[in-house]
Amino acid sequence: MPLFDLHLETPDSATFTLAYDTGTSEIAGAALDYAVFGVTPSPPRAWPAVAAVSPDCPGRKTAAARVIKISLGLACNRACGYCSQGSERAHTGATRPGDAPAFIAGLADWWDGGEDGRGGGTRFEFWGGEPLVYWKTLKYLAEAIRERWPNAAFSIITNGDLLDGEKVGWLDRVGFAVGLSHDGPGQHLRGPDPLDDPERRAVIRDLIERLGPEGRVSFNCVLTARHYSLVAAERWIADKLGLATVPMATEGLMLPYDATGMLLSPKGAEHDVIYASLLGELIEGSAYGNVSVWKATRAFAQGLADGRPVTALGQRCGMDRPAHIAVDLQGRALTCQNTAAPKHQIGEVAAIGDIRLARAHHHSLRPACRACPVVQLCQGACMFFEGALWEQACDNSFTYYTALLAGALYHMTGGGVLKAIESRDGTPIRQRSIEPEKAA
Ligand code: SF4
Ligand code: SF4
Repeated sequence: MPLFDLHLETPDSATFTLAYDTGTSEIAGAALDYAVFGVTPSPPRAWPAVAAVSPDCPGRKTAAARVIKISLGLACNRACGYCSQGSERAHTGATRPGDAPAFIAGLADWWDGGEDGRGGGTRFEFWGGEPLVYWKTLKYLAEAIRERWPNAAFSIITNGDLLDGEKVGWLDRVGFAVGLSHDGPGQHLRGPDPLDDPERRAVIRDLIERLGPEGRVSFNCVLTARHYSLVAAERWIADKLGLATVPMATEGLMLPYDATGMLLSPKGAEHDVIYASLLGELIEGSAYGNVSVWKATRAFAQGLADGRPVTALGQRCGMDRPAHIAVDLQGRALTCQNTAAPKHQIGEVAAIGDIRLARAHHHSLRPACRACPVVQLCQGACMFFEGALWEQACDNSFTYYTALLAGALYHMTGGGVLKAIESRDGTPIRQRSIEPEKAA
């Protein structure tokens, strides 16, 4: 891996340089205060290398699955232009709710039941489309799993349109964590804003009141070229709900899955504007209220503190890991929850040892990622993207994660602003959003 010189400037215009090795997470040139992100170095440990999955070396799946993503189907009550599943919908057949009992019956045959045989250490994610479109099937599945494996964790991401008092009460009782997709001022790009409807606002407030105290609810925003302020997204949602603050998460700057996603992705100098805006919110500190930003930054700081090698890093979404599996109700294992059979079928859970994740490219096998200063934060965008989609996804990810890198360095160095990144071996840095005059 190349070494990078990270050039920083203090508020009184002094400059200093950190030497950063993305391969080993070693960083030298100034003392870093990891504690600002609540990090203390861990005791030395071995770092097993992850399998670098590729079409030539397909990933495997294990019966000791600890993240099980159940794809209920890709139907949705909305038609958001930049949906991560939009291009897949055409490839999927109709879901068959009648498959649910057989799915539950088969689960015990292929899954080990979790760390304690009662679902411990395992998260079931229930995915659509819009999962609440599949309300009866969802209810059946979650109740059946909860009865037999009471210690499993449950989560769901919903657009919230179909929520009502009954569903909120049920989600609470059955123990779900709920992510509400909402892009704040960018929500109109998805269609009508549910927060403009008084009835919906009341239902969502009820959900927040019930699940919020246990940290089981958040709003999940996607940033685009049109709306990229994490702070504005939170403000928009909190104001509409009449709350002082709301729990927020983000997928970062969008990954483009289709032509609309490409259109809503930043181009050229727009990257510079977005970078500078995000960095401003990180330096000021309010962006760290977003749990995804906080967790990604903290994991990066922990990696530096512990010397985490890049070989120990899987893909960001985790779907290259043997213990993470996406499966539809017919037991077909999928590349991930955003894909569908037959195009993305990688095997069947009934023959879990035969599953082969053949469409993925681990970041260590992508030349751009190997030479990337933010690979420890980004972990390679989407593992199955290729061609123009991957190029744009990489551009978007680079802008977002370079801002996170600069924000982390600012706080850990006590005020150093990242002004430039240079690779020691002269490898060009992917793009120019880090130019000093634009980033300041
Ligand atoms: S920003 Fe691009 S090159 Fe860097 S790790 Fe992410 S996908 Fe790879
Ligand atoms: S492979 Fe990962 S990043 Fe790509 S669409 Fe699936 S979950 Fe998202």
